[in-house]
Amino acid sequence: MSHAARPAMTTAKPAAKTVLISGASIAGPALALQLHRHGFTPTVVERAPELRTGGYKVDIRGTAIEVCRRMGILDEIRANSTDMEGGSYVDAGGRTIGELPAEIFGGRADGDDEIMRGELARILYERTRDDVEYLFDDSVAALHDDGDGVDVTFESGTRRRFDLVVGADGMHSHTRRLAFGDERRFKRYLGAYISIFTAPNHLGLKRWETYHALPGKLVCVYSSAGETSAKNSFVFRSPEELPYHHRDFGAQKRVLSEAFAGDGWEIPRLIGHAADATDFYLDSISLIEMDRWSSGRVVLLGDAAHCASPASGQGTGLALTGAYVLAGELAAAQGDHRVAFEEYERVMRPGVEQNQRMAEGFVKEMTLDTKWKIALRMFMVRTLPKTPWKNLIAKKIRDDIQKAANAVPLKDYEASKTLRTTAA
Ligand SMILES: Cc1cc2nc3c(=O)[nH]c(=O)nc-3n(C[C@H](O)[C@H](O)[C@H](O)COP(=O)(O)OP(=O)(O)OC[C@H]3O[C@@H](n4cnc5c(N)ncnc54)[C@H](O)[C@@H]3O)c2cc1C
Repeated sequence: MSHAARPAMTTAKPAAKTVLISGASIAGPALALQLHRHGFTPTVVERAPELRTGGYKVDIRGTAIEVCRRMGILDEIRANSTDMEGGSYVDAGGRTIGELPAEIFGGRADGDDEIMRGELARILYERTRDDVEYLFDDSVAALHDDGDGVDVTFESGTRRRFDLVVGADGMHSHTRRLAFGDERRFKRYLGAYISIFTAPNHLGLKRWETYHALPGKLVCVYSSAGETSAKNSFVFRSPEELPYHHRDFGAQKRVLSEAFAGDGWEIPRLIGHAADATDFYLDSISLIEMDRWSSGRVVLLGDAAHCASPASGQGTGLALTGAYVLAGELAAAQGDHRVAFEEYERVMRPGVEQNQRMAEGFVKEMTLDTKWKIALRMFMVRTLPKTPWKNLIAKKIRDDIQKAANAVPLKDYEASKTLRTTAA
């Protein structure tokens, strides 16, 4: 599938104008939206044959709310909110141990929002598809940056030249591999895996999530507003990284079955639905840590640059914020990528690092490793709603999360809204 680009300006030549973005998930289309507004000509290439709509519910909080407002997508996000009411923990017999409202579960503050990842990807894609060229079912095979531009060879065999290339192709970024080297140099495994897929809602959940904790594992099933199906999600610890390829879904489904073999509650039935799931997702919970995010005319964005892992709850917010900042800095620098890339990194890095540190602690919290720790957690879940300090505890959780969510300072790039151009 591809959509023809509309030329943004024709009479003059800015320092950098054509931008190839690899990856059409969250970061890529968000950057394309902002670059087009600033007068650049973005092209997005996506390996998948069509937009990938699976995934977890993702939080839009702190700085990301203002970013979405400025991108003009906040109302649509709110109209598609998951609108969760709350959740409960159940024991192995399915009996409810305790229930908590959504604000406490999600550490949510007023104005925070939550949307399915696939819905957000769809909103961004639909906002950009008429103005931006999308190349699905293709990928970058080779890059050659000669200092004045980047020659790109696609896997389809097509060759094109762009002023800049942005890798927004996720934790296993191919662009990063081509421009910076092997993933192992930058990935830090945090000791756990996450899997999620759509399945029939056989628990009959409505705007509700149900959790079951086992030593080193957490299972969650939920159904959000407007959904007839459910999402089955599994987190499990593994001391070592597991040997499978990140595009081999058959191997990933076997990894999941083996991790939960012999476990009770509804787990065999929930895992059984993985076989038919068309949006099956499994990945390690890892960080991407790099000394720099750009090399010449190639720059990384979102998880490709600085994956904070699902444990941070901030990967999507950081991807949106990074897209806004990168496009804004390119416009402010009139397309001078050296100035823009440096400033993009200076603005983003402290906030990124704060969120990555938070994720490390959250992984252990998600997957308590002993029966005693789980028993203590269940005691808290049972008693918290009845304690007079419940609001104080909720506030403490919320404040920590909000601090990290607001860690990137947002400039106003409106003044540089349109790329000023120099005579050709
Ligand atoms: C289908 C899917 C489901 C997800 N589910 C969850 C989830 O349940 N929980 C969670 O925390 N996070 C999930 N994520 C990751 C989450 O979207 C990101 O952490 C966050 O939103 C940052 O997004 P990103 O755009 O930087 O990277 P990503 O969302 O990872 O997107 C990267 C995009 O690049 C594409 N791509 C990869 N390689 C190439 C290539 N060589 N050429 C072209 N395109 C390429 C991918 O297909 C994808 O569309 C999911 C991602 C995807 C794609």
